[in-house]
Amino acid sequence: MHKNYIENALHQMVHVKRRNGKPAILSQEDARLWQADKIAQKQKREDSDIALHQEVEEYVAFVDWGRWILLCHCGAGVAVHPDWTEHYCFGCGAIFLNVTFPAERLDVEAALLVRHKNNRFFFPQKGETLETLVEENTEHGLVEK
Ligand SMILES: [Zn+2]
Repeated sequence: MHKNYIENALHQMVHVKRRNGKPAILSQEDARLWQADKIAQKQKREDSDIALHQEVEEYVAFVDWGRWILLCHCGAGVAVHPDWTEHYCFGCGAIFLNVTFPAERLDVEAALLVRHKNNRFFFPQKGETLETLVEENTEHGLVEK
């Protein structure tokens, strides 16, 4: 996948640098392995009943600070990717199998990408629509390129 595509499509989480110096996450498989590693570390450290588990309930993705995410039941923000079939919570071990994106995702991304990166938010759960975003852009003199 082209680097620009990643950066311009609000999927910044896929090249988040890991603190241990390992390569960034570039694929779903990377994310799956990273989650397994994180949860295994937590199991050793915290003596808790934390475990990998599947989550089949539908979750709707939204944009928070320029990234598509969902809000896990454990409270963690989970980076999600429209091309992936699973999404991984590094907080509690949930594996999300049923994540939906807005039908107008590409237009939503285009509307957000004309904004400064600190102003890229989209909450369809709070009633925001593509039209809302475009209206806000117009109010602030922002035009899609
Ligand atoms: Zn979680």
